[in-house]
Amino acid sequence: MSHLNDIDIAKTADKKPINEIAENLGISKEEFIPYGHYKAKIDVNMNKEEFEKNKGKLVLVTAISPTPAGEGKTTMSVGLADGLAQIGKKSVLALREPSLGPVFGMKGGAAGGGYAQVVPMEDINLHFTGDFHAISSAHNLISALLDNHIHHGNSLNIDTRKIHWKRVVDMNDRQLRHIVNGLNGSTNGVPREDGYDITVASEIMAIFCLSEDLIDLKERISRIIVAYTHDNQPVTVDDLKGSGAVTALLVDAFKPNLVQTLENTPAFIHGGPFANIAHGCNSILATKHALLYGDYAVTEAGFGADLGGEKFIDIKCRTAELAPDAVVVVATVKALKMHGGVSKQHLNEENVIAVKKGLVNLKHHIQTMKDVFNLNTVVGINHFFTDTDAEVQVILDACQEWGIKASVAKVWEQGGKGATELAQLVVEACENKTNMTFAYDLDTTLMDKITHVVQKVYGGKGATYTNKAMKQLKEIEQVGFGQLPVCMAKTQYSLSDTASLIGAPTDFDIKIKELRLSAGAGFIVAITGTIMTMPGLPKKPSAESIDVDKEGNITGLF
Ligand code: ADP
Ligand code: MG
Repeated sequence: MSHLNDIDIAKTADKKPINEIAENLGISKEEFIPYGHYKAKIDVNMNKEEFEKNKGKLVLVTAISPTPAGEGKTTMSVGLADGLAQIGKKSVLALREPSLGPVFGMKGGAAGGGYAQVVPMEDINLHFTGDFHAISSAHNLISALLDNHIHHGNSLNIDTRKIHWKRVVDMNDRQLRHIVNGLNGSTNGVPREDGYDITVASEIMAIFCLSEDLIDLKERISRIIVAYTHDNQPVTVDDLKGSGAVTALLVDAFKPNLVQTLENTPAFIHGGPFANIAHGCNSILATKHALLYGDYAVTEAGFGADLGGEKFIDIKCRTAELAPDAVVVVATVKALKMHGGVSKQHLNEENVIAVKKGLVNLKHHIQTMKDVFNLNTVVGINHFFTDTDAEVQVILDACQEWGIKASVAKVWEQGGKGATELAQLVVEACENKTNMTFAYDLDTTLMDKITHVVQKVYGGKGATYTNKAMKQLKEIEQVGFGQLPVCMAKTQYSLSDTASLIGAPTDFDIKIKELRLSAGAGFIVAITGTIMTMPGLPKKPSAESIDVDKEGNITGLF
């Protein structure tokens, strides 16, 4: 049993110089841009035909409806990639970059855990290669251009009460949610109400992750709607003449970052949009690089299979013309117990009956992946020390009864060795590629798309709309964006829009409160409940436990 915390384990890593990792992958010297000893950016001009010819198998790691601590998708993705390497496969990871918000807040970083981590974990969790700073600057350049335009006479006739473009910073800082700026007289701008979102909630972040190349990136940026005029016409970044400069700030950031796992498996870590108001997965470029250089590319989608999983398919795969060869649904004894009605403080006590009761949630997500999206699906049980054999057996028995292959993975404890059986199941699942189907077609109405997701993916009855949402829906269809996919923003804790409805609820409606057009990213966000785009820090933030010594060794990250 390991008593080391994540950063102590990460420090013991026997890392290879990053140029060796790149050379082993077949990345040429010209394509390789070192960022220190253990990080690099890769600049491959990917030719579509070459890519199609050489691409490997795509493995999506998703999960059941999680507990607030996370069910270990990142940890399992890392462990599975290492497990595939252990059984002799050339595997490559594609993951999101962590945001500073959770690193200093409650959840911690996003570089895996235990013996299934990507390294250098301090760098990955803190500034990494500066991509998020570039994205923040690109976003805030648009804000500066917008307010400057208003200051210099506002020839576009922007209604300052209808500005949708906030500013961003990569920090959990509730103080900035609502602000007034432009104060102190006519030389200091035009006063108005404004606010900040966290960088990962920026539309630039979503665009960054959905763009195929720099031209696509620039075109999407030019289409972003930042405000409306007094006569209700959209104002875009193109109207502000900002697309070129904003894209220029992103040229380096747009190249995928290469690092490695504790077991030297290559990992592309790039981009990291929210999984509620955005689609929640790493950049298309990172996924494509992993597919180009690996025989197996393992990637993760945020939240549960109903959110990140659905959007991975209906938004990202549709845009990038990709389809997973296999899906791993991560389940934990703890989360199943929670779905069986056990409260948070009792999750560490054995409760076979509760696990059994909670299985409905796992079954629902498996059916979505198998029956709605028609994908080869296996279950990966992320094993915790507190799990008892009897509890684990309940899950294995149920999967057998459902005809679903399942394996207990001890990746947190053992790294890749703990996932060789799961890796074997994944290899077998990848052997027969299926024809992936979507939850909805793009040419149906927005309402139909939402209804399809609610009925097929959430197991609900349908959707209800507030008057505000109805008005927005009509406006979006009128201005010609009705053909875009929907990006559902809903709680991750329940299949419904009510976090406390655990298990697999039925007979519920999803209440759509608001629709937001992300014209650049290319989706319509359907908001249920309150979605926090600028989180706050908890009473005892994890920042309090982070320290550094005189050599620069950082402690307390997890
Ligand atoms: P997700 O990607 O689903 O949000 P992560 O992989 O980031 O989840 O894991 C969340 C937290 O749980 C991390 O701090 C990780 O170290 C920890 N964790 C994951 N799996 C295990 C496990 N099997 N045993 C103990 N801790 C784990
Ligand atoms: Mg994760």
